[in-house]
Amino acid sequence: MSMHNHFRVRKTCIEASILLEPLVDPFGRRVSSLRVSITQRCDLACFFCHREGEHDPGKEMTPAEIGRIVDVAAGLGVTKIKVTGGEPLMREDVVEIIRIMSLYVREVSMTTNALLLPGKAVALKEAGLKRVNISLHSLKRETVKKIAGVDCLDQVKAGIRAADEAGLKPIKLNFVVMKGLNSGEIPKMLSLSAETGAILQLIEYQNLERGVERWGDLCFDLTPLERMWDREAVSIEEQIMHRRKRYTLADGATVEIVRPIHNTVFCANCNRLRLTSDGRLKPCLMKGDNLVPVVQLLRSGAGKEELVEAFRLATSLRAPYWSEKV
Ligand code: SAM
Repeated sequence: MSMHNHFRVRKTCIEASILLEPLVDPFGRRVSSLRVSITQRCDLACFFCHREGEHDPGKEMTPAEIGRIVDVAAGLGVTKIKVTGGEPLMREDVVEIIRIMSLYVREVSMTTNALLLPGKAVALKEAGLKRVNISLHSLKRETVKKIAGVDCLDQVKAGIRAADEAGLKPIKLNFVVMKGLNSGEIPKMLSLSAETGAILQLIEYQNLERGVERWGDLCFDLTPLERMWDREAVSIEEQIMHRRKRYTLADGATVEIVRPIHNTVFCANCNRLRLTSDGRLKPCLMKGDNLVPVVQLLRSGAGKEELVEAFRLATSLRAPYWSEKV
């Protein structure tokens, strides 16, 4: 089949599947995005990593399996995919995975440490990757080493340049704020955003281990910054996902605050399901006891209808982690 025909066939298939009733959870939240971990392998060892709430992962999904699952998700109204890990670029078939995902959804983006981006950015862009979030938790070499266990600041910077040159934009810089460790660098990160046009994401540090919360000394309260920018920002845009605010500041910096902890608004506006690297649907980062196997169904010969049911079950198990009652 020619590439052109292949796309046409796929498009018809998607249009047909969209007739399925969309995924809506018991709290009225519609699922329109899927966060897919494609591996738990990583070339860094960030000491605080929540590993997307995935522990003891099993066999990774193949590109074909990912394609079949994403096909079903798209038919149920998922339009956006965020690829994560582990480090997604550790997979040698990452370009193939992006190409397959892009057949089904409007936007595929990726969260990465960027170390392997210089060799892959162009191919990823051509395969359909729209943009990247790059984890950059410090601009100081020693602090990066302390956080990631590897002296890699220069490599991350090279990765950011590669993403920029390949047009994987807007680039978002993920900065997990940790009290005393990198919290003093927020002004420098804002300047970097103003200089480069990258969007800075200040992410609340979540201390989560095997579903157990242990809020440690590193927690940094982002609320005062949010209040200040609510008053002072030149413009404020509200994202659909989590109703996160994006502030444009007077010097041209753009900054988003990702503040999930004890935030009922964040949960009330969550439109995301997760897919673990070993093929299980995960209703919430914070919960480890309600995963729904899906690739396992495929491997035992299940058809599309059973996969649809798995999505519906996972959606029915979604509940706001931070609710008024907590
Ligand atoms: N390896 C990739 C990377 O470094 O971006 C993707 C995986 S990583 C788990 C995805 C994002 O989660 C990164 O931006 C990372 O900084 C963030 N993250 C990891 N652990 C976290 C934690 N305990 N609290 C808040 N964010 C965290």
